Order: sequence, then C-alpha cells, then structure tokens
Amino acid sequence: MHWADVIANTLISRGNRHLISTGISPSGFIHVGSLREAITAGAVNRAVLAKGADVKLIYLVDSFDPLRRRYAFLPESYGEEVGKPLCSIPCPCGEHMNYAHHFIQPFLDAISELGVRPEVYWTHELYSTGRLAEAIDTVIKEKVKVASILRQVTGRDVPSDFFPYNPRCPECGRFADVTVVGYEFPFVSYKCPCGHDGKADVRKDDGKLPWRIEWAAKWKILGVTCEPFGKDHAAAGGSYDTGVRFARDIFGIEPPYPIPYEFVQLKGKGQMHKSSGSVVTGVDALKITPAPVLNYEMLRYNPDRHIDYDPGLGILDIVDEYDRTENMYYHGGAGEREEDLLRAYELSQPDGTRKTMPFQVPYRHLVSVVQCTETFEGVIEVLKRTEHMVSVDAMELGLLKQRVDCVKYWLDHFAPEEVKFCIAKDMPQVSLTELETAFMNCLLQSLNKIEWEGDVIHQAVHECAKSSGLGSGKGFQALYQIFVNRRSGPRLGYFLSTLDRGFVIGRIEHAARM
Ligand SMILES: [Zn+2]
Ligand SMILES: [Zn+2]
Repeated sequence: MHWADVIANTLISRGNRHLISTGISPSGFIHVGSLREAITAGAVNRAVLAKGADVKLIYLVDSFDPLRRRYAFLPESYGEEVGKPLCSIPCPCGEHMNYAHHFIQPFLDAISELGVRPEVYWTHELYSTGRLAEAIDTVIKEKVKVASILRQVTGRDVPSDFFPYNPRCPECGRFADVTVVGYEFPFVSYKCPCGHDGKADVRKDDGKLPWRIEWAAKWKILGVTCEPFGKDHAAAGGSYDTGVRFARDIFGIEPPYPIPYEFVQLKGKGQMHKSSGSVVTGVDALKITPAPVLNYEMLRYNPDRHIDYDPGLGILDIVDEYDRTENMYYHGGAGEREEDLLRAYELSQPDGTRKTMPFQVPYRHLVSVVQCTETFEGVIEVLKRTEHMVSVDAMELGLLKQRVDCVKYWLDHFAPEEVKFCIAKDMPQVSLTELETAFMNCLLQSLNKIEWEGDVIHQAVHECAKSSGLGSGKGFQALYQIFVNRRSGPRLGYFLSTLDRGFVIGRIEHAARM
C-alpha cells in the first residue's frame, strides 16, 4: 500500500476529523525541499479525503518570525531590519504587502499549480487577532513547568529568569532582549535596553512565544492532528519532542501525528540559479519539471527516504520514468512492486486522473524539437510532421504547453551545454574530406527514397557511413557539423526527422558540392 494511504488509515483509526498542517518561516528563497513537505501533506490530505473522512489542509506562514540576519541576497539597508518580524519588513521588490508575502506568494502559487491548495494562515494574524491570547496566558502561568520541560527534553540550560514570551519593543520595532518585570493578564511589563518601559498586550501582536512553544500553541488553537516536518525537528530532544510535552503537559491535548521527512538533496552542487543567486528554489523546480512529474518525484518514495533532486540531466530520467508509470496506469503491465508507483501517479495529478491516457511525447524529443523551432505553434507543426501528435484535445494541448515551457526554462537555466544546440541557419564553414563527400552522396540517395522517420533515417545514416568507408562516428560528426555547427548533438535520426525533409536534403546537397 502506498505510504500516503497507510498514514491515512492510521489517522482515521484515531478519529474522523483531521487538520493537516504544514508551513514555513518565509525568510528567503524557498528551497525545493520545502516542496516535499507541501506535496506530502497534500497527498495525505487526498488519501484521507478519499476514505471519506472530514479533513482540512492548512498552510501556516510564519510571518511573525524575526529576520535572523541580513542574507547575502538582500541589500545592505536590510541590516536595519534584523530582529524585526517578517510581516513588518518591507518587501524587496515593492510589489508585495511585506517581506514574508514577497517570498511566500510565489511558493503558494507553485504548490497550487501542484494541486496543493491549503487554507492559508498568517502567524502574525493569530497574534494580532488575539487567537493565541489564551494559550500565551497558559504558558506564562506555567512558565516554571515550561522551563523544566525545555531543560529535561533538550538537556540544555534554561536561565532561572526564563520568561516564555518575548515582547516587541515599539521603539526598536524588534524582539529586543528585554527584561520582563511583571505579568497581569493581558499585560507583560518590561524594560528594553533602549530605555523604553513598555506593556505588551498578549491579545495583540505586541510580542511572541519562543518558537518551540509557539508550535505546540498552534496545534492547540487550530486543532492540528497531523503534520509533516523536516527530520531535523524529529531528532531526539528536538522541537517535536518538546512539542509533545508542551501539548500534553501544558495544553492538555494530544500532539499531531508526525510525518518526519528526509531532505531533498541537490545533485551537482553549485547549480546556482542565475537571478536569485541561491540554490534551486521550489519555484525553479516547478519551472523545469511539469507539475505532475514533480509531484511524482516526491511521492514515489516514502518520506523517510532521501531524494536526490537533479536539475541537470536527471530531469530527463524522471520524466521518462513518469511516462512509463503513466503507460502502466492506463495499459496495465505493472508488477506487484509497482502498485505503489501507480498510486503515486494517481496522487500526482493536480486535478485528478483522466479517463484515457494523455498523449506522450518523449521529453528528450521535446528537448530537441524545442531547439529546432521558435514558437509553440512550431513545436506542434513538428510533432504533427513526425506523427507524434495526431489529434489532441484542449487538455492535452495544455499538458504539452506545460512541458514545452518547462523544457525551454530548463534549457535557459539548468541544462548542461552538451544538450544545447541551435540549427545553423546558413551552411557552416566546413571542408569535407573525400570520404565525407562520398558519405553525403550516398545519404542523399537514401534520404530521397526512405520514410521520413527517426529510426529509418538513423538506419540510413549508419548504412551509408559504413558503405562509404567513413564509419558511423565520423559520419555523425560530419552531419552535426553541417546542421548545428558542432561535433556532437541530439539523437541524430530523430533530430533530422523533426526538420523539414527538403531543408535536410538541400543542406546535404550543398555540403556534397563543396
Ligand atoms: Zn516583493
Ligand atoms: Zn527598545
């Protein structure tokens, strides 16, 4: 059984109403690994829903977390903003409500495209609307117990004057290192090192719980029953362990069912994105991998298995695997071991599966077609010519467009040089040897007779290279030279079949005459 169904069964055995929570502190570009969390939560949500239980998926944007430091991608002026909550720092581009919004919105758009459409909560609003007030009051009243849980579970020292609430000084605008001098609901009185003496109202966004406690407080007020999180939080003495104790001993609730997941590692370190200067973001991943394929890549393995995400040639392999699974899903042939892959495929469809199999164009072929033509219409024309596309409906056209856009973005930003080429518009400067000319002449005769299909062309090239005495390797090189002006290129037979027959023959004739 697929792991999402196993988890769904476990959840349902505990009760019939569920709230699956996921979220992030949006302090900068969101790494592709964070997509795994959202996709995992989305899949469990679907699996629970399919079993008829009442379930809701929420996304918590930790917009009240302070900016920890000025990251390298931020202008120097952001040095001033360190320590302030992300919701009250200006957005770097000027088009979003605030800093948190700037980084989270593209990510939320991306997961929506993946079919993960949670209800979004902003943590700063949980404070400003007073939803957290009662939990904060509880925590402050139980501060001795809170400190002792922190001490016991983490093994770390907790200072004797520990106070589980950090006021935000209105003079400094940040969560300063204040001295709390008293508490009487709803006010925490404090002295700030800046000289300001203040009163923070726990019913407002005047201050914040430390994050480990805040996590459990959110479970309490929202009623979270299940939550995926990175395995670092699941370590012994980590934040889930403290959360469990806070849940039971301070808030009197059962902690949510945990789904710790392994990290997504980027293959080929140094794969930096040109504009963000950061490693591959979730948004990038979706720009280079069609949405259902990206879901599939994350869902085919258990959350406890690590995933190597390869934004280079690996993309081609994963799309091929996806296409094979899709084929098995519609046409059968899956072995017992592949049952879970079929379920992963099913869960990967952002808007559910179709009745019939969508038409497939091998992704590798698209990589060369996209480079042979400039427009989407051009791609369609080539696919019709090569009979990869007979009749398609609007939905399939949409899927094709998605793939073509991904291939283009990938070629522009992540593809290795070896797969890139461009058709030489004019005949490149070459001088052919006698053997090469004989090969070209032989090929001309063949190409005039044969069917214009990749495999057939490939065969003809081989035969002429052999019979002319040139040899296949050199024959291929000579052809790459005259078509793409380099010594290597895309899979030759298929590549030539995507080009207009008249153009191909004309170019070879020209070369043979030189
Ligand atoms: Zn912005
Ligand atoms: Zn201050």
